[in-house]
Amino acid sequence: MIIIQIQIISRMFFPIILGISVNSHLFAQDQFLIKNNVNSNQQRPTDPMKKTDSEWKRVLSQEEYHILRSKGTERAFTGEFDGHFEEGMYICAGCGNKLFESETKYKSGCGWPAFYDALPESVEETEDNNYGMKRIEITCSKCDGHLGHVFNDGPDPTGFRYCINSVSMDFKPDEKK
Ligand code: FE
Repeated sequence: MIIIQIQIISRMFFPIILGISVNSHLFAQDQFLIKNNVNSNQQRPTDPMKKTDSEWKRVLSQEEYHILRSKGTERAFTGEFDGHFEEGMYICAGCGNKLFESETKYKSGCGWPAFYDALPESVEETEDNNYGMKRIEITCSKCDGHLGHVFNDGPDPTGFRYCINSVSMDFKPDEKK
C-alpha cells in the first residue's frame, strides 16, 4: 500500500520537478546571453557591414551600386581619383574601411587609380574568369564591395598593381593608419 502511494506521489511530482529543472536551465542560459551581451535573435552579430541588396540600393548612389554591388567598371580615365595625388587615406565608399594609403599610389597610365599595395587585411582576392580573362578580383574585406582587380605588372617594392575604381572609394585627406 505504501509503495503504491509513493508511486502515485512520485508520478504527480515528477513533471513538476522536471519543469523546474528545465526552467532553471533556460534561466541560466538567458543569464549567460545577457552577461555576454549576446543577442540570440540577431542575424549578423559579428558583421554589421553586411547589408541586404535592398539596403545597399537605399544607401548607395546608382553608380556606386553598379560598381560596388554589381561588379561594374567605370570608364577609363574618367574617375575622380585617377589623377589624384594628395596625401591621405582611400577608404571604401560602401563601408568606410581603410584600403590604400596615398604613399602607395602611383601613375600607372592604365586609366584607373593604381596602388602598389593595400593595407593589411583590408581587401580580399578572388579568381575572376569573366570576359575571357583570368584576373584576380579585389573586394572590400568588410562589406564585400567590388573594388577592382590586382595585376602583377606593378612597380617595386611589391610588383603589384591594384587597379581600383574611383567610384568604389572615398578619400580622407588627414587620415593615416
Ligand atoms: Fe567596404
